[in-house]
Order: sequence, then C-alpha cells, then structure tokens
Amino acid sequence: MSSVMTLKVANKTFFSNGKKTQALCNVAIDVAAGERVALLGASGSGKSTLIRAICGLEVLDKGSGELIINGRELQCNGHLSKNVRHIRNEIGVIFQQFNLVNQLDVITNVLIGICPQKNIFEIVCRHFSLEEKAKALDALDKVGLADFAYQRSSTLSGGQQQRVAIARALIKGASILLADEPVASLDPESSRKVMETIVNLSQKLGLTLITSLHQIPVAKKYCERAIALNKGAVVFDGPTKELTAAMLANLYGSDLEDLEMDDDFSFSKDVVILGPKLTVVQ
Ligand code: ADP
Repeated sequence: MSSVMTLKVANKTFFSNGKKTQALCNVAIDVAAGERVALLGASGSGKSTLIRAICGLEVLDKGSGELIINGRELQCNGHLSKNVRHIRNEIGVIFQQFNLVNQLDVITNVLIGICPQKNIFEIVCRHFSLEEKAKALDALDKVGLADFAYQRSSTLSGGQQQRVAIARALIKGASILLADEPVASLDPESSRKVMETIVNLSQKLGLTLITSLHQIPVAKKYCERAIALNKGAVVFDGPTKELTAAMLANLYGSDLEDLEMDDDFSFSKDVVILGPKLTVVQ
C-alpha cells in the first residue's frame, strides 16, 4: 500500500522557563493509506506534539527530519513548506472537545471546514454556494447525520458533535484524520459510534486515522497498528494485538491505574509484572 505520511527522524525541543524538554526524539514513522494507527503512551510522552507536527502546527527542530504528506513535503529542517496551506487540506484534525460553534447549525459548522477559502463576513452571513451546501450534506450523510443538518450544534450529543467534526474534516477533502483523544469525553456507546464511523470511512474511502487514545480496549478494537511513545521516542510500532500487559506496564508506569483496561489487560495492584521490556524500535 502507498504511504500517505512519512516522517523521518523527527526531533522537537521546547525551551520554556529556562527548562529544555525534548518532546520528540528521533521519531520515524511511515503510514499507509487506510491504516488506523493508535498513538499510545503516558501523559507527556509526546503524542500531542507528534499530532501537531504532522499537521504543521508544530515546526520540528532545525536539522531534524522531513515530513511528507501524500508525496508532498509539509516541513523539513525546521521550516514549513511554502504550500503548507494546500497540503493541510489533506489533513483533518479532531479534538477531545469537538471545537464546534454551538450557536451555529450543524451544516454551517461543517462548511467552516472550507473556510480558509472564505472571509469572516461570508461565514457569518453564511454565503455558501449551493454546491458547497451539497458537499456539506454529503459529508454529513457519510457520518450518518444528514437529518441533523439544520439543527443547532448545541442540541446534539457529544458523540454526534464529534461526528460533525469528522464531517468538517471530510468536506475539505482530507484523506488523513488526526485525532487527539477523540473519545476521551464520551460514554462507551457514543465512543463506539464515533470509532465505527471512522472505521467505516477508512474502509469505504481509504481514510487514514492517526489517533492518540487513552483507552487501550478502544485502541485494540479499532486500530490495527499501535505506536507507543516514551519520553518522545517510539518504543513500540506494530500490531495492536501484539501489545502485552507487561509492555503496557512498562509504558505507563504509575499512570497505569488511570487507564481503561479490558479483561486481557487487567492488573492486580498486588502483582509485580516481570514481563519482557518494551520492544525498542530502531
Ligand atoms: P502527551 O500528548 O503525550 O501528553 P505532549 O506532546 O503534550 O505529550 O508533551 C510532551 C512534552 O513536551 C511534555 O513534557 C510537555 O510538557 C512538553 N511540551 C508540550 N508542549 C510544550 C510547549 N508548548 N512548551 C513547552 N513544553 C511543551
């Protein structure tokens, strides 16, 4: 399968309040079209920084690796490419808190996805062509929400709002969906619907998913590949089903108690896990 995203030996260092933090350390990843990749790791391991780097919101360190999206360079050597705006159209980003405008109806929230081409007056006055509205309805149909197009966004459930956010990514023609904890604030049933919508889109349209997830069972069920980060470095990159309880114990350390586990990965606090160390990916 062809690569939609290639990241080569990426580093990101933050300097703040006299403190230096290496958020990403020699990260190299290649993702094929239609893959669903879960980013795992304890809080502070670099998942959000990686997501932000992939969509060009974070510029990687000078002298550090390049990022290629669908064959086009988005950033390299500490610089964003000149046509970063065009390349960004191929990437949709969704967040834990959905980021919809509650006062606007659902269809306008979706149309905001094509707003880089619009000015604020056109958005507020809803100056959208019939063709643009048809595209928005089509995107809503793909996430199963066409019937809600003219309803205020605030009247939708959390899971429905997240699907509107996915439709907003689709309307701009995104082939890659980046998601930062997309189901963290949803109940299990809404999480299931959101993840099933994404799986459906990846199977039907070849949409690629790269998502940070705090819920290990969700990662195992919906993502065939996991990339685990520890202090900014990739320490596991392989099939989700190969993750073991011992690996997760090593990965999350004392954060493990906050994680949602399933029966395969349940831990007793009294048991000391003496499993293999994490596979270190070179
Ligand atoms: P995660 O998403 O896995 O919780 P992050 O990518 O948010 O991790 O953070 C990785 C590390 O980089 C953390 O130590 C965090 O404090 C640091 N970091 C992230 N963003 C900034 C920033 N803008 N300035 C300084 N440090 C940052």
